[in-house]
Amino acid sequence: MEARILLLRPFWESAITAEYIRRVHGYTRYFGRLVAIRNGDEPLHVRLDPTLNPWRSRGALAGWLYDRLNPSLNVEFLSATDETWQAKVIEQIGLARAVILHLAPRQTPDTQAFPDIRVERRFVPIQKPEDFDEAVRTDVHEAGTGQGLLRELDYCRQAGALAKTIVLVPDHFMPRIQAALSVVNMGHGIDAFELVDGGVRTFLPKVSTLDHALANLQQVWSVIPYRRFGGPVFGGRLLRALNDVFAAPPAQSAPPCVGIPPEPIPLPPDGKLKHIRFTPVERLTKIPVGRLVELSFEEVAQIQPEWAADPNCPSCGSGPERIFWYQKEASPDLTPGATIVMLCQYCGYKDWR
Ligand SMILES: [Zn+2]
Repeated sequence: MEARILLLRPFWESAITAEYIRRVHGYTRYFGRLVAIRNGDEPLHVRLDPTLNPWRSRGALAGWLYDRLNPSLNVEFLSATDETWQAKVIEQIGLARAVILHLAPRQTPDTQAFPDIRVERRFVPIQKPEDFDEAVRTDVHEAGTGQGLLRELDYCRQAGALAKTIVLVPDHFMPRIQAALSVVNMGHGIDAFELVDGGVRTFLPKVSTLDHALANLQQVWSVIPYRRFGGPVFGGRLLRALNDVFAAPPAQSAPPCVGIPPEPIPLPPDGKLKHIRFTPVERLTKIPVGRLVELSFEEVAQIQPEWAADPNCPSCGSGPERIFWYQKEASPDLTPGATIVMLCQYCGYKDWR
């Protein structure tokens, strides 16, 4: 069977992404079929069918010339919706012999201005319980690449596919990635604030939980910074990386869990039994440690109505749809007043009552 090379990339305007696909295909065509999730009408911009040659009717020479100028590409576009792309990408990572991930800014290929990733250093005295909410409120930074792309990078890790993943990063975006990565490395497992005498002090900037996927860059096969996408230096490095990945034995691993499992199953980060009841596993950014059972927001409202009336994340302000509600039990305890834990999927803040 023909080898498949999966391309994961930002979804810019389709005429632009089609051009980027054309350039990557210039190198992947020596190795196999390039596969990408379709973004709008890219197949219109990229010639896929060699038999379609509108110039052939004008004579053999015109037909030959058209083939030379617009060679048909060995590219497969897959359709996916907002609901299905996660499972589709996980499936394709498993099928691919190599994965190329283009880690670029989310809006356009150009240099973009982002707010600096730094902490607003402040001390909040705690005199009454409500002061604590003010103390833990922090700005959450993002590196600026697509959140979907970060999720895809994490799927590569979950699938054990980092050893076959090649990451392309524009030169101008590299400092931004490094700034976010240094915060991820510093803040691993600790909060962005600390309790001190009489109050709370913030001391670390916070990046979104999805940006923590950037830590996977330390384990991918190679990171290729480039000045000109598709240029000769870029091409030489990409060809060498593809050669190396294809020369290594194929990465073997079990595919990560997808969907809502019918019963409690062992899940990362610790392999403890977790009963996920409402959120498809592939949409969870941060899974809590320990045995747990997920609660619906309706159940939270039933157990603790006063919390459900004010359910936003105190740290970043995210609404209840971005919060994972659970209990550290084997099955839900719907007794009024029972303990509930919240874990914000955007900023990672955790609280329980
Ligand atoms: Zn939050």
